[in-house]
Amino acid sequence: MNLNLGPVSFVEGFSLQFPEDVCANCGTRSEVFVAEQNTKVTRFLLLGGSEISFALPVSSCTHCVDSLHRRPLSLGNKALITGMMAGACATVLLMWASMGSTKTGFLADHPFLVSALAGLGLSWAWFRRHRAQAPQSSYYQPVRIRRLKRQFVDGTIEAMHLAFTNKDYRLAFVRANREAIRKGQLAAADA
Ligand SMILES: [Zn+2]
Repeated sequence: MNLNLGPVSFVEGFSLQFPEDVCANCGTRSEVFVAEQNTKVTRFLLLGGSEISFALPVSSCTHCVDSLHRRPLSLGNKALITGMMAGACATVLLMWASMGSTKTGFLADHPFLVSALAGLGLSWAWFRRHRAQAPQSSYYQPVRIRRLKRQFVDGTIEAMHLAFTNKDYRLAFVRANREAIRKGQLAAADA
């Protein structure tokens, strides 16, 4: 194994090769270089959690290299962003109302409904701005770790399930790792 993936140990015979000639995000093959994508995997256990960081050597072009630093947002994160924007709108509206600017009318009668709608609108605009530009496949990290299978006793990694936002990159990954995929040590899905 010729990768430095961080302070983790893998089961003997584990091998993992990342393609180097195709951008993991947009799929271009011109001016591609290998950069580091830092990916954290958190596992929640009965008495707390554990987190492992992987420095994945992911190939990218200059247009997509920034995406390697953007962690994908979970549904919970998106809900949190929407909630915070709605909260900010509510604060502004209530301050405005308390200054006596909206004694009557729909705004004054329904500050929370208006805030929720404004929060949704702002979030929609925010997510629209933060989306992939064609031909990119994602605004966020193009390689995801979906699942780690670890030995119960010492945490040695037995299998890693990855997902990719770019289909061409996934196919190149599958070609480079046929043996490990056949053995069940790796799996490659579309993100
Ligand atoms: Zn690219």
